[in-house]
Amino acid sequence: MRTQVAIIGAGPAGLLLGQLLHKQGIDNVIVERHTGEYVLGRIRAGVIEQVAVDLLDEAGVGSRMHAEGLVHDGTQICVEGVRHRVDFKALTGKTVMVYGQTEITKDLMDGRAAEGAPTIYSAYDVALHDIQGARPRVTFRKNGVGQEIECDFIAGCDGFHGISRKSVPPSAIANYERVYPFGWLGLLSDTPPVSDELIYVRSSLGFALCSMRSPTRSRYYLQCSLAEDVDSWPDERFWDELKLRLDDEARERLVTGASIEKSIAPLRSFVCEPMRFGRLFLAGDAAHIVPPTGAKGLNLAASDVQYLSRALVEHYRDKSEAGLDHYSERALLRVWKAERFSWWMTTLLHRLPDSDFEQKMQLAELDYLFRSKSASTAFAENYVGLPY
Ligand SMILES: Cc1cc2nc3c(=O)[nH]c(=O)nc-3n(C[C@H](O)[C@H](O)[C@H](O)COP(=O)(O)OP(=O)(O)OC[C@H]3O[C@@H](n4cnc5c(N)ncnc54)[C@H](O)[C@@H]3O)c2cc1C
Repeated sequence: MRTQVAIIGAGPAGLLLGQLLHKQGIDNVIVERHTGEYVLGRIRAGVIEQVAVDLLDEAGVGSRMHAEGLVHDGTQICVEGVRHRVDFKALTGKTVMVYGQTEITKDLMDGRAAEGAPTIYSAYDVALHDIQGARPRVTFRKNGVGQEIECDFIAGCDGFHGISRKSVPPSAIANYERVYPFGWLGLLSDTPPVSDELIYVRSSLGFALCSMRSPTRSRYYLQCSLAEDVDSWPDERFWDELKLRLDDEARERLVTGASIEKSIAPLRSFVCEPMRFGRLFLAGDAAHIVPPTGAKGLNLAASDVQYLSRALVEHYRDKSEAGLDHYSERALLRVWKAERFSWWMTTLLHRLPDSDFEQKMQLAELDYLFRSKSASTAFAENYVGLPY
């Protein structure tokens, strides 16, 4: 098989890149380890910045998002039972869109299928070859049969645990990482959200987040210990604990119900540098991870894809290497800004082990955030994604 760009991974980064390249007449094949159903079954991000909204429109798959997505003008932060609101629209003129990652993935998969662009699911033992040479290759097994794709470039969009980053010689890559000493226990339920806007909760019992996917589907999170077992959290225990962390009004309004998904996610900050190795380009979670507090993971994947798709179009159409040569540097500039914001929000709102001083600092910082217009504006700008 021969293509111009071989894309490893059919998550949001790989599918979006494939769709944008296809629209520009650039041949690409996506190779995915799992089945399409498995990829669609993963419950992850929900808040989308304008950059991602614009790219989904450019990819021709934005219509359902505009019809069903929820535009949020602001967010709420509850500190020890008292709710505060940050008005994104008033402070920055911008908003965010609430639309689930599973829906984005479905729209991208449907768009790709409608265009007849090839995605190879259930591809085992994916391996990258000659990434520094003029003709890189990707090999894999499908239905027990070995296959090979020859290409001009490889886009490593295969997430944190993928093979692309691991294919780079360790001496050529620098990794920066922080693993947080807590995780998020998430519950998805077909119940109306407790509020029209997300509520970030900082309480002495730990962080909580009231999020949503639609007017009838809610997503709630509780900060939990990394040693927790999801089986020891029956729905009732989850709802009881959430109520303890909420303010009175939210506690009153909360509609509980049977969970349709429950899982524990560890929290991690991670960046690898650079994001280009010869003809291999990393994008999305393959190159960086943020704790989900700032809702930046999916948005960063979209911004990498924006730079990479533009650079590949420049290469093929204008015969210019400038975009490809600057891809890593430009993407990393944005990545580190989002890493800073996600780290800051995480340390601001979570219960940190054994640290009375840190807790006092959190409260002082939150007080400053609500009282100072410049602090609120900086928060809002970062959340909606402006200063990139
Ligand atoms: C549990 C969890 C909760 C999250 N919650 C949020 C949130 O609330 N808000 C937010 O903004 N972000 C959240 N994120 C982050 C967000 O989901 C990711 O940033 C986003 O999925 C990145 O997209 P991606 O395409 O780069 O990677 P992924 O979505 O990880 O996709 C990578 C794809 O590559 C495939 N793959 C892996 N290895 C191989 C291989 N060897 N060969 C072929 N294919 C391979 C995988 O199966 C997968 O389909 C969360 C992440 C996790 C894990």
